[in-house]
Amino acid sequence: MARVVVVGSINMDMVVTTDTFPRLGETLFGTHFSTHPGGKGANQAVAAARLGAEVTMIGCVGADAFGGEMKATLAREGVDIAHVSTGREATGIASITLSGGDNAIIVVPGANHELSPEDIDRASAAIAQADVVLAQLEVPYATVLHAARRAREHGKAFFLNPAPAVELSGELLDLTTLLTPNEHELATALQTPEGAWAEVITRAPVPGPRIAMTHGKDGAYYADANGALVHQRGFAVEAVDTTGAGDTFNGALAAFWHLGIDEAVRRANAAGALSVTRAGAQGGMPTLAELEAFLNTQA
Ligand code: ADP
Repeated sequence: MARVVVVGSINMDMVVTTDTFPRLGETLFGTHFSTHPGGKGANQAVAAARLGAEVTMIGCVGADAFGGEMKATLAREGVDIAHVSTGREATGIASITLSGGDNAIIVVPGANHELSPEDIDRASAAIAQADVVLAQLEVPYATVLHAARRAREHGKAFFLNPAPAVELSGELLDLTTLLTPNEHELATALQTPEGAWAEVITRAPVPGPRIAMTHGKDGAYYADANGALVHQRGFAVEAVDTTGAGDTFNGALAAFWHLGIDEAVRRANAAGALSVTRAGAQGGMPTLAELEAFLNTQA
């Protein structure tokens, strides 16, 4: 069983549906309200745990009801929450308003922005036992960089899902074993032209990360040991809700990394495909049994 440490965000998504968006200063009745556990870090931790990995989450929530609920959700999924600290700010939230196929979203990072290098150091025993340390960029860059340095010191694989997209420093790239962007994130992370991804993936600088780029229903691309482009096709499914596909892909990639990049990407594609057949980010993530049953039908 793979041991995965996730360094990342924990958010509560608050979703309001309404017939029309309110105008400035207007109050109106909405039609529905629901909350959903989210944040790229928490999502990827849950994805890996459902697929059988032993997962430790390093994150930060507020001393409020959402923080307690998010920790309870993670624990219920089997994620070790001993290194989820409590900050002074409120638990991170995304306020999402949906109306007639359009959305308006405000993200307040809150306690996620308090995750510090000290939080990483407090979890160094977990990093020392990990197979993969997996991070995204919804927590402070300096904290992610610190986690990457610690992973390197312990000789551990460090995966970076560079979302939301920012330009990455040479040091963070050098410390990254596997970079897992989508097409847009790859161009921003490496400051390369949007259309040039095939060339970028196959001509990754050495030393530097390998790149596994996700491409929606098309699947994923990476380079083989000789630098040739490999395309693993996505699995054909009926998409209901693509929220969380990338997070499922990343959690799966970490959970199955010990099987080698070809098999890990195949399974990550399958997990990502399964996730889009059901509503919600965490709601759509498959269990190991569901993934294996699906792969058997594809053989
Ligand atoms: P992101 O949401 O981060 O941009 P992608 O849309 O590239 O991520 O999706 C991540 C992975 O999920 C893809 O590489 C693929 O394996 C899977 N996936 C996403 N959308 C679909 C789909 N419509 N059908 C099948 N697989 C999908």
